[in-house]
Amino acid sequence: MAVTAIQLCLAVLLPLRGKALFARNDTMPNILLTTLCNRSCPYCFAGNEMPGPANLISRENLIYIADFLLASGQRHISLLGGEPTLHPECLDFILYLLDRGFNVTVFTNGILGQCDLDEFKRHLAGVSVERLDFVCNLNNPIQTPASAQESEKVHTFLETMGPWTTPGFNIYRLDFSLDFLFDYIGRYGMKRRLRLGIAHPVPGSRTDFIQTGEIREVVSRLYSYRRFFDRFRVSPGLDCGFPICKFSDEELGWLHRFPGNPFFGCGPAIDISPDMSVYHCFPLSKYHRKSLFEFDSMARLREHFRTIRSAIQAEIAGIYDECDGCQRREDGVCSGGGLCRIVGRFVDEAPIRLAEIEDGISGYRISG
Ligand code: SF4
Ligand code: SF4
Repeated sequence: MAVTAIQLCLAVLLPLRGKALFARNDTMPNILLTTLCNRSCPYCFAGNEMPGPANLISRENLIYIADFLLASGQRHISLLGGEPTLHPECLDFILYLLDRGFNVTVFTNGILGQCDLDEFKRHLAGVSVERLDFVCNLNNPIQTPASAQESEKVHTFLETMGPWTTPGFNIYRLDFSLDFLFDYIGRYGMKRRLRLGIAHPVPGSRTDFIQTGEIREVVSRLYSYRRFFDRFRVSPGLDCGFPICKFSDEELGWLHRFPGNPFFGCGPAIDISPDMSVYHCFPLSKYHRKSLFEFDSMARLREHFRTIRSAIQAEIAGIYDECDGCQRREDGVCSGGGLCRIVGRFVDEAPIRLAEIEDGISGYRISG
């Protein structure tokens, strides 16, 4: 019943009200090389996609995407999965995209699949760390333990590719601990930026996530690590969906001391599956899914998802009641939280809104 309600609310295309809402302007599309993964994280955003109908992207599709992005003026691309290195041509694809002029980010768990780490090092050692970035999603070895074999592989990856690697960490429990990351950054000479994600609900999936009412506690615990960030000269990089009102002035002042502006928005991330379907981001991969072939540019693709977002937020402004009429949202400073959470509020309010949503649904279908 709950999933049906989400599908209904997301399928409705309501008239746009108000101005375009906050979104990252430099959205870089993510290409899923494969929907396979060799780890099973409790907070995984990608559960709805794994295993997908097509598990490995073809070379032809990758070339089509590269052409599409270059024609759209896009010079930055992200590869992810599942675990992208499980694709047997992962290294070839990285080299191809670098050769086409892209800066490439590879989201990995560090447990390399079919790729040989020595080959990686041999072919990538000459690539500037500005052009190639491995974002290694690291789990706390005590709080989210892995097998000895998996841990060894991660350490070997970091030993080999540390200077090209940005550590990433997903927060899915309130007692999270970051200490180990600062140790890794120093030990393996990693990039001094820590990408911090908050685990969001994935509609239709049962992953662990931070409840909306718990976000303030997360922010407070993050801030308690400020001495580590300062001492090790590591910048905190907030991923999508952090609401700015959960940060105190002091915490915001601290964030602003680091390079780049902190981000308090929500995608669209724009993920492209091996079968060329596109969606807003992993948690919303089941909704308003389209084919890349239906678009002639990234601008139109982004516009599609922003239009849907605006339509949904015309009904429910954000993750809190206060988002309705919030000046920070009006000013484009905060998105009102993640769309994945806003959709959850439709579920909560579905009994009230069901008739209205059903009225609006005629003529619209969720594709994919
Ligand atoms: S839009 Fe919502 S989440 Fe953002 S600052 Fe305002 S009340 Fe907070
Ligand atoms: S809906 Fe927004 S906040 Fe949620 S995962 Fe997607 S991009 Fe991030």
